Formats: sequence, C-alpha cells, structure tokens
Amino acid sequence: MKCRVCGKQASINLRAYNTALCDKDFIEFLEKRIVNTIDDYKLLSVNDRPLVAISGGKDSLSLWYMLNKTGYPCDGFYIDLGIEGYSHISLEKVKRMADRVKKKVYLFSVYNLIQKGIDGLTKTMRRPPCSACGMIKRYVMNMVCIEKGYTVLVTGHNLDDEASALLGNILFWKEVYLWKKSISLPGEEGHLVKKVKPLFLCSEREMAAYAILNSIDYIYEECPYSHDAKTILYKRILNTIEEKSPGMKIQFIKGYLKMVKDGEKKNHYCIHCGYPAYGDTCSVCRLLSKLGIEKDVNFEEYSPYSLDSERQEVT
Ligand code: SF4
Ligand code: ZN
Repeated sequence: MKCRVCGKQASINLRAYNTALCDKDFIEFLEKRIVNTIDDYKLLSVNDRPLVAISGGKDSLSLWYMLNKTGYPCDGFYIDLGIEGYSHISLEKVKRMADRVKKKVYLFSVYNLIQKGIDGLTKTMRRPPCSACGMIKRYVMNMVCIEKGYTVLVTGHNLDDEASALLGNILFWKEVYLWKKSISLPGEEGHLVKKVKPLFLCSEREMAAYAILNSIDYIYEECPYSHDAKTILYKRILNTIEEKSPGMKIQFIKGYLKMVKDGEKKNHYCIHCGYPAYGDTCSVCRLLSKLGIEKDVNFEEYSPYSLDSERQEVT
C-alpha cells in the first residue's frame, strides 16, 4: 500500500476516504481537515479568544496541540473531578502539554464549587455519575469563559462520540438534545459562551493515530464511569455498519449538520446566576441551595511560560 501523496510506504489506510497515507502526510491531512472544518463551519474568527476544555485524553490534548500548531493560539481549561485513581493522572498529562504548547491552563476543582467530587455528588443527587458530571462540567466551562473573557469554548468531541450520541438521541427521540449537539452553538453575551467542536469530522481512530505519531502523552485509562453500556453499544453498531459501508459515519454526521443548520432554539437563563437553565433556576443553583452552600469559585492558573515567550513555536 503506497501513500497517495508521496508514493512511499503508507502506514494508515483511510477507507472512508478511499486513501492511504504515510505518517507525515497523514499528520498534514488531519491538520488540514481541522483548519478546513474551522473555516467551513465558521468555528473561530480572528477576533476570537478561544479556550480549550482539556480532560487529559487523546482528543482534547491533540486538539489543543493542533490548534496552537496551526495558527489558533489558545489557552486551556481543566476540571479536576475528584475521581479517585483518575483525576490526578489526567492533571499531570494536562500540565505536560501546557509546557509543550507553552500556554496557560486554568485548573478548577469541583470541590471548590460543591465541596465534594463527582463520587459524592452522584450520591447526593441520585443521578447517574455521567449525568451529574456533565451538568457540573457544562456549568463550570461556561462560567470560566465568561469570567475570564474567552469568547469561544472549544471541546474535543470526535466523530464517533457525536455519531453515537446522535444515534442514541434519535432512537429515543430526545428532541431537546438533538438540536443541542451541533458542531457550533451560538452564545449570548454575559450568559452563554459560544461552543465549537473542531474534531466533529475526525474519527476516534484518526485521533489515536495522530496522538501516537506526535508523541502526545495522554491518559490511557478510561474514567471509571465511562463504561456506559449504551454509548459503547452504539459505537459498536456504527463501527459494524462502517466496516460494511466505509464513510457511513461521516455521511450520517454531515447530514445531521445540514439538518440542524437552521434549527436554532431560544435559550433560557437562571434568575440567580444568569447562566443557561431549563426553568427559572439552573441545576447548579438548585443543587447549591439544596446543599446550603454559597457559590464561591476559584480558578487556579498553571502558566509554564513567561509572557515574552508567548509567540514561541509549538514543537
Ligand atoms: Fe464525567 Fe462520565 Fe466522562 Fe467520567 S465518563 S468524566 S463521569 S462524563
Ligand atoms: Zn444558576
């Protein structure tokens, strides 16, 4: 198998694109895809101040690296979820990448907000861990951008994450979520930051290959709560279809993006904190009131570089 670009030995076969590439041309191919996705879907503009949400996994770390390499300088944001045996390892990976891209990363511990980690929150709320965790993460990510003056929140959801979530939302006709899963969600000043997902069209396999080829040190362990049987099942089903019909996943997701383009819904905001809510009070303000806690947030900063060296190239 020869690389379609240079004719040398190919190292990766991309059946969805009916092509094969060597290491170097694959890296260029994927970086070009990110830049084109950002342009085509108008994810970032020159006036934006983007902040990347980083978990310590391959997708978010690679995304942070890629954006800084391809001309979109951006800081990072990490939430310590207080998950035993997982959170402290991911934090080390995040700091290592901050040193490599020479960018600041904000560190936020959920303990600061609710005086417990996700483990404790799950018990208090009697909600599944991922549901409680997702609620807190959405709230805090929006808050850090607004508090620190970032105009766009960038997340590392990849094609497989999005295709499986879409399949789940369609199977159960969760209409609210169906409209809120797009590649870009508009913001509203003072309340809601714009959200974008530049990896929307990049598969899990492509992202893993990119991370390995660029020696990105990411956390291999999955979050202990990540074994959500349904997500794994949907990914498996989609992979089986993809196997028989290469390119199906990308078509599925592109068709969805076309459909939601004009389907914007009106947002509601919490009367206490001003951030997004389904009713008058958002879930976090309801939780804090239930726990009898005053909201007191504190973002720590990890800055591995001096301001003078901000323009150094990413290596
Ligand atoms: Fe949170 Fe669930 Fe993701 Fe773990 S798998 S980080 S609990 S959303
Ligand atoms: Zn609120």
